[in-house]
Amino acid sequence: MFLLHTYDMGLIVQKFGGSSVADAEGMKRVAARIVATKRAGNQVVVVVSAMGDTTDELIDLANQITPMPTGRELDMLLTAGERISMALLAMAISNLGHEARSFTGSQAGVITDSAHGRARIIDVTPGRIQEALKEGAIAIVAGFQGISQDTKDITTLGRGGSDTTAVALAAALDADVCEIYTDVDGVFSADPRVVQQARKLKSVTYEEMLELAASGAKVLHLRCVEYARRFELPIHVRSSFSTNEGTWVVKNHPEGGTMEKAIIAGIAHDKSEAKITIVGVPDRTGVAARIFQAIADSDINIDMIVQNVSAAATGLTDISFTLPKSEGGDATAVLQKIQGEVGFKSIQYDDQIGKISLVGAGMRSHPGVTATFFAAMSEAGVNIEMISTSEIRISIICRATDVERGVKAAHTAFELDADSPEAVVYGGSGR
Ligand code: ASP
Ligand code: MG
Repeated sequence: MFLLHTYDMGLIVQKFGGSSVADAEGMKRVAARIVATKRAGNQVVVVVSAMGDTTDELIDLANQITPMPTGRELDMLLTAGERISMALLAMAISNLGHEARSFTGSQAGVITDSAHGRARIIDVTPGRIQEALKEGAIAIVAGFQGISQDTKDITTLGRGGSDTTAVALAAALDADVCEIYTDVDGVFSADPRVVQQARKLKSVTYEEMLELAASGAKVLHLRCVEYARRFELPIHVRSSFSTNEGTWVVKNHPEGGTMEKAIIAGIAHDKSEAKITIVGVPDRTGVAARIFQAIADSDINIDMIVQNVSAAATGLTDISFTLPKSEGGDATAVLQKIQGEVGFKSIQYDDQIGKISLVGAGMRSHPGVTATFFAAMSEAGVNIEMISTSEIRISIICRATDVERGVKAAHTAFELDADSPEAVVYGGSGR
């Protein structure tokens, strides 16, 4: 059983996403919730995201001024979204008779490297937050931002980065728990927007959550899970629109929990990747190294790689790999540059692919998961184009148009379907 949520006095970090504070009403609802936690005797630190679609709107606005804003100025602009939220939330809390003080990421001591738009947190020195708590105030921190140690410029942590702010602060403050409030009731066995019968998970391990987040599940930012695992900080993912118990992200499934028996924790899908096939590559030592070195030198992240057996007659082979669509243009350009040197025939670019991933620690001890998965895909008429596996994950690439059908079929094949729909989607943005 879980004892974690029965603490009576502690330090709690609560993070509210953009859909929870989309308007003044939302701010007030969230403020009431924060105050209730404080009244229950806890010290409370709140991390907040920009209201609704503010971040997207700010990006659009920047793009209307220039197609290529500099990282420094774009970060300065985007962090304004979270500053609006933190100040309004502090006002809403003070209206309820409690003292709240808002802090920018920099004031809260979130120190990062200087990679604008995807900065990594290197240290958290939350002196001012501790001071505010000691004086009985609720601390509100702007998520998604920090200050570069070298340049002293304001940075952002990448889209969805407020989760990471919350977990990093919780770790630095030695909090009892980090609660991530979102617009669904927790982590589900599949995206409830796709699978109506998706089940809410009572618990999920850091390891499983990392694989799910890396495979396209949008409920938590990948780096936030990495951080939580490093510090063994429990995360409670739940809805700000209900008081339902959500999903606990923890080191091990609790004893006696039903998840122990489940083979598959969840199914994630991702339509944000593209596939590049390099056709007619000479099958010689060092060629693959040359190709992927060129890709790595351009800071392009690749996901799956498949190399075919070379045709005996020609000694030529094909190499395919997947990567974020947003990096497809750069990757193609890099490959064209080395085409003459490497001597391959051509490059094919395909952005109509999707990925389906099955994740579960139980896979380790259960043979036959792959067979069940592939049989379900075949029955659903989903053609498998690429496969990759880890110890606790199987992913396939298929046509983008087949993804939803494939996810539903796999969900049914692994008996994950709930008897009646469990998921309520309160917001709409998926964050
Ligand atoms: N506001 C930022 C974004 O939309 C950060 C976040 O929501 O976590 O990506
Ligand atoms: Mg957001």
